[in-house]
Amino acid sequence: MFINFRARLFLLFLALAGSVLVATLAAVSFVTSEQASRSVSRELNVSERVLSELLRVRGEQLQLAAQVLADDFGFREAVATNDRNTLISAMVNHGERIGTELMALYRPDGTELASTHPNAAAQLSQQPEGLLRIDAALFQLVTVPVKTPDLIAYATLGFRIDNALAGNLKSLTNADITFFDQASARIFASSLSLAQQQSFQQAMREQQLAGWLNAEDLAAQQAEFSQTNLLLSLEQSQAQQSYNELRAQYFVFGLAALLIALLLAYISARWVHRPLVALTQATQRIGQGDFSTQVQVQQQDEFGRLGEAFNQMCGAIAEREQQITYLAEHDVLTRLPNRVSFQQTFEQLLVDGKGSGYLAVLNLQKFRSINDRLGQQFGDRVLCEVAQQLSESFSDAHLIARLAGDEFVLVYTADGMPLEVLQTRLARFIEAPWLVGSTHYRLKFRCGMVRFPNQGDAVDVLIRRAELAARRAEQANDILAVYQSGSDEAYLRRLQILQALPEAIEQQHLQLHYQAKLDCQTGRLLGVEALVRWQHPQLGVVRPDEFIPLAEESGDILRVTRWVCQHALDQQQLWLEQALDLQVSVNLSAVDLQSDTLVQFLQEQLDQRGLAPQKLTLEVTESAIMADPDNAIQRLQQLRDRGIKVALDDFGTGYASLAQLKQLPLDKLKLDQSFIRHLRDDPKDQIIVQTTLAMAQQLNLQCVAEGVEDAQAWQLLRELGCEIVQGYYFSRPLAVHEFGAWVQTQAASFLLGDSESIMGDTCNASQD
Ligand code: C2E
Ligand code: CA
Ligand code: CA
Repeated sequence: MFINFRARLFLLFLALAGSVLVATLAAVSFVTSEQASRSVSRELNVSERVLSELLRVRGEQLQLAAQVLADDFGFREAVATNDRNTLISAMVNHGERIGTELMALYRPDGTELASTHPNAAAQLSQQPEGLLRIDAALFQLVTVPVKTPDLIAYATLGFRIDNALAGNLKSLTNADITFFDQASARIFASSLSLAQQQSFQQAMREQQLAGWLNAEDLAAQQAEFSQTNLLLSLEQSQAQQSYNELRAQYFVFGLAALLIALLLAYISARWVHRPLVALTQATQRIGQGDFSTQVQVQQQDEFGRLGEAFNQMCGAIAEREQQITYLAEHDVLTRLPNRVSFQQTFEQLLVDGKGSGYLAVLNLQKFRSINDRLGQQFGDRVLCEVAQQLSESFSDAHLIARLAGDEFVLVYTADGMPLEVLQTRLARFIEAPWLVGSTHYRLKFRCGMVRFPNQGDAVDVLIRRAELAARRAEQANDILAVYQSGSDEAYLRRLQILQALPEAIEQQHLQLHYQAKLDCQTGRLLGVEALVRWQHPQLGVVRPDEFIPLAEESGDILRVTRWVCQHALDQQQLWLEQALDLQVSVNLSAVDLQSDTLVQFLQEQLDQRGLAPQKLTLEVTESAIMADPDNAIQRLQQLRDRGIKVALDDFGTGYASLAQLKQLPLDKLKLDQSFIRHLRDDPKDQIIVQTTLAMAQQLNLQCVAEGVEDAQAWQLLRELGCEIVQGYYFSRPLAVHEFGAWVQTQAASFLLGDSESIMGDTCNASQD
């Protein structure tokens, strides 16, 4: 059972007060009962003394009365003359006068002269004084000599001791008096009630005196007078009555004291408990995060000091919590709100529906290289500077925060600013020269903007879309882009592709299609370009120009290329076995060119199958070479050294200068489709193609035209002296079995002049 501290304290006080009181009452009770029994025995002693005194006084009175009789002249004469009749009448008269029941006159030798009780003289002469039992009655005796002057006789007078006397004596001694004879269990006189006397007699007979006293609730004292037993008794209850009253008074007093103790205990418990309650409540408030209210303990004692210490502690905790909250919500370096707090605040803004606006994400480009090249400290200073400039330049923004290492975010509500104005201000901010410390520095930013709530009503979505826009700006080499609705879905698809690609490679979900390459002049089949295909169960057909750039980004392209090479070479080997000697072209990416193991890998693949390196062409784009020209040139050279052919793909779309082109270790130029597709109608394209072909001839490069879609284009290319053609006009990229069928059925239809076989001499046209 739970008892609170106050209740426990109260009970403790109460128990203390109660036990002291009970102990006192017990002591009082003990002492009073001791005192009572002592006073009873004292009273009985006193009674005994009073009784003996009374009996003595009575004896003296009797003595006097007896002396009067003995001194009477007539009486003495009657004794001397032994005048029995006179003696008897004198004794009767005297006896009546003084109220005595027993009178006896006898000679010194004991011979009876006259007596109220016949034959008592002998007994009386034996015991002339004190108490004596005669004929079942008890008498107090006095005896006087009768002299004439010689002693002639003794006169004994006996006064009866009866119940009346006992009653009288009781009124003087205050104790019940019983004269009795224990041996014969006889009671002579008693002030006890008749019933008590009877039970006393019974007890004497049974010798159960103590038991009888107890049963009768009597305190008693026994004495002996002249061989007569005497019992002085008092009623215990009566004797103890005053003590009982005293005890009752004590009890009442104790009860009153207990009540007062109760009240005091209650007050004390409250008094002690109150500061504890205040402290407990304060602790609960702290638990709920409220540090503002102070504990009010006005006492000057330990509780007061505890309250003070508590308040100080509260202050310290509040301060620390403020710091923690600040740190949790702010970026330690720039002091701007961090991503978490930005999300919370912005979310609230969206929930409150406070209108619409723009969210702009500012991405500091190449920040990592700043860190790497100029050191982390400088990087930190750059970030601080950016944060400060942002806060100053966009002090009217609703929110400014640092989202990540090199990413900041601004929120403007639309009513405050039109989009164009904001764009201009952002552009000005981005393009401004930066002074970090004393150094002028050019920082590159990309900014992506998104409108809310029309382009998203969740913080995460808006941030992601703004980041997407920033990336688009980067790709387009702009500084700023506004999110275009729908690009998010494309982004998600990109993510899905990135996730699914490794598994697709692993589980052979990729496939190769082959597109024919023909001798431009004769129409004979020279070779194929291997083009990768991917059919994904959920995403459907994923086009290579969709997933290849992603694979390049993620690095998966290395594995894709290897897979393509292996399968293309396997296929080449199979065709060879079917007497189909085809040049196979495979596309390479920039990442492949940077791979140290590429050359060795290809060499091994060729060797394993016993294929001629001259029958393998690697198509590389200008941009792939330009990513790291020195390295690419070196690698291409190594490939060419081993006899593998190299073609420059999509020629004309990049920025490679003719001077650079001259440096490149190439075998072929692949004119980009964009110049070929409209060749028939576009004179400019015709000029470009003509010039390029002329230049290629000069540089001793074979020229391939891809994207040939009609006979006229082919005709023109033939006239211009192009060597190899590729395009839908001849064949789309086809799966292996389709390609086989194409070779069987359609390939021959492109043969010109005297050519009789789709293969044959012209096969060698692809070789040096
Ligand atoms: P590419 O290397 O320039 O490949 C030629 C693309 O042009 C192929 O598209 C082909 O189907 C298409 N094409 C051929 N003739 C015509 C024509 O007459 N008209 C039109 N409109 N198009 C024609 P595909 O297969 O979609 O490939 C697109 C790009 O994907 C390729 O461009 C290449 O850059 C890349 N790619 C394809 N397979 C691979 C691969 O295995 N490895 C690498 N690294 N890239 C590949
Ligand atoms: Ca190609
Ligand atoms: Ca191409």
